[in-house]
Amino acid sequence: MSSPSSDQVLRRLERVIPGQSTSDGAGVRLTRYIGSQSLPELDPFLLLDFFESDDPDDYIAGFPSHPHRGFETVTYLLAGKMRHEDNAGHGGVIEAGGIQWMTAGRGIIHSEMPEQENGRLAGFQLWVNLPAKDKLCDPAYHEYPKARIPAEHRAQGVDINVITGITSQGTTGPVSGAVTRPLYLDIQLSCGASFEESIPKGHASFVFVIEGEIAVGSDVEGQTVSARQLGILNAGDTVHIKAKDAEARCLLVAAQALGEPIARYGPFVMNTTAEIEQAIRDFNSGRF
Ligand code: MN
Repeated sequence: MSSPSSDQVLRRLERVIPGQSTSDGAGVRLTRYIGSQSLPELDPFLLLDFFESDDPDDYIAGFPSHPHRGFETVTYLLAGKMRHEDNAGHGGVIEAGGIQWMTAGRGIIHSEMPEQENGRLAGFQLWVNLPAKDKLCDPAYHEYPKARIPAEHRAQGVDINVITGITSQGTTGPVSGAVTRPLYLDIQLSCGASFEESIPKGHASFVFVIEGEIAVGSDVEGQTVSARQLGILNAGDTVHIKAKDAEARCLLVAAQALGEPIARYGPFVMNTTAEIEQAIRDFNSGRF
């Protein structure tokens, strides 16, 4: 096993979240892991949804026109296609393996609709909070197809797609400049393969197992996270992840906690109730 150097603290599993079935948008079936009753937020993460279906009835209604203010929405597709269009004339299609990191900032109104009438649609939506000083920044997009996301091949069956952040081996993801200095990795492990990665102190972090089963912690004392479970990591500098009895695929995501008050009303996430009321007024009077 690889051991962290003596001054490094290994992150361990703090909690496993099974997810809560719900629907959102115009009736898209999904499972919510963050932003639910059992885990309202994991500062700076405000929401994590996973959607996966080959039944169009589960996704075809999509997410028609809706606003956002005060945070970032991150869409990562595993299968299928989603079309997005906003009130500033920006639009496009996100395809399997592609990422969209949208900074809503002071406000955006957009739609997110399946670009398919049948077949499998699967992916994630993550909401990352913005610090008070950036909540009203200009909206911005970072959008990359699978071909632009570097794959880091490590020894012994460890392949890491680096979406944002920089790995301990120096691979840098294309999504850059996010204020919470996020790390977003899609990791494929062959049976029994393991790896270790640095996560800055002060970053909140989680793993989401897409397939297989992983052990988090040391080789000796790893704690299990199974497919379709969210594993929240405790504080530390590094994480050690191992595929258990079969190959496994998981996300490893981390970002700087903000430690600021959260006032939340649907698609508006600010610091105070007064700012939420302002967001509603601005939206209703066409100032987005
Ligand atoms: Mn949206």
